[in-house]
Amino acid sequence: MNKCPYCNTSYNEILQTGFVGCSRCYEEIEELQIAVEKMYAGKSHKGKQVVKYDGNL
Ligand SMILES: [Zn+2]
Repeated sequence: MNKCPYCNTSYNEILQTGFVGCSRCYEEIEELQIAVEKMYAGKSHKGKQVVKYDGNL
């Protein structure tokens, strides 16, 4: 699914605004899940930032 059925926010809208419509967006929009995974993977590689996400959730 490319759109969240709970808040009606599409993946493109999230890309443009930088905000998800609700917490369900991450579960409902596959594209967003993939993008978030890549984002976290990138950060853990080069950043000093501590990310509380180890992929085992
Ligand atoms: Zn949503």
